Amino acid sequence: MHKKSLIVSILLIISFQLFAETPVRPKNIIIMIGDGMGVNYVSTEVLRNPQSPFREFSNSGFSITCSADKLITDSAAGATALLSGYRTKNGSVGSDSTGIPFKSILEYSQEKKFKTGIVVTCGLTHATPAALYASVKSRKEEFDIADQLIASDVDIFIGGGRKFFLPIEINGIREDGINLLKELSKHGYSYYDDYASLKKSLSTESKVAGIIEIDALPHASKRDYSLGDLTQIAINNLQKSENGFIMLVEGSQIDWAGHDNKADYAISEMEDFAKAVKVCIDFAMEDKNTLVLVTADHETGGMSIKKGSLDGSMELAFTHTSHTAEMVPVFSHGPGAELFKGILDNYEIGRRLIKLVNPEALFK
Ligand SMILES: [Zn+2]
Repeated sequence: MHKKSLIVSILLIISFQLFAETPVRPKNIIIMIGDGMGVNYVSTEVLRNPQSPFREFSNSGFSITCSADKLITDSAAGATALLSGYRTKNGSVGSDSTGIPFKSILEYSQEKKFKTGIVVTCGLTHATPAALYASVKSRKEEFDIADQLIASDVDIFIGGGRKFFLPIEINGIREDGINLLKELSKHGYSYYDDYASLKKSLSTESKVAGIIEIDALPHASKRDYSLGDLTQIAINNLQKSENGFIMLVEGSQIDWAGHDNKADYAISEMEDFAKAVKVCIDFAMEDKNTLVLVTADHETGGMSIKKGSLDGSMELAFTHTSHTAEMVPVFSHGPGAELFKGILDNYEIGRRLIKLVNPEALFK
């Protein structure tokens, strides 16, 4: 072989091996959790909507959702596994059951100077979003979790749960007299207390706190804005980041519909979540450097599609009013998406996500 072409061949082999061993890393990562969203919840959305954005994903798989101590997880342990790469006992958030904190993908991302965002339809101190930015022994420590959110330096957060930030005297439930909303400006946030004002926020604002309800957001069917609208506001802000961003989006109330065994509620929360999935997948398709991963922390209600017709009408049945151990779906699109195919343990999904942020991350 000619000497020059031999060198070219060797270089090609070396670069091919490097490529094969190092997954392509995305600039941006969007983690979407449908709380309680088992396979049949996604089925209701896909069967009812021929244009469902769930059809756009290039890769799919399943997640085993167990916690450290139970076959059937709660949202605190489920989200902790997905966001920190460790299983913990039910009830603990971002820490083991003695309170020793795990490092979450948020901290890895902030070390790499990514911008960060959270968009949820529950209170911002609820277990799933809390697992991103807080470490507490018990998910019930929501005042402590609120303190940790303000201190977390998340660039944009949108959701409900204002009562955990305000003292009793001014429509809150804090007994310590602290008004955490006053702390927001000290930490550089522009604060918005309803959707109408948040919508007018400028994407040039560096830090945005949208705590737009006293409690959770209204049901999707009772809002004139969608989780997709909220997600778009966050993306408009975060996409300016030169270093990339990570964002958590949660369809929080899919789980509540499952607990209540309410079919209409489940279907409309899935439609709402799908609107956010569409916003994210459209962004990723255009951007071409964003990983979108959609999964659930667990299934809720043991839901099945019992009857229906091809026009999309359906009757749902529930076997339970709590969570189940059913495996949940995992959908991914974008650079690194192939890492999330097949059957994975929930904590392994967390580890793979974190390694896309920092390949040097080590796990015990
Ligand atoms: Zn639940």
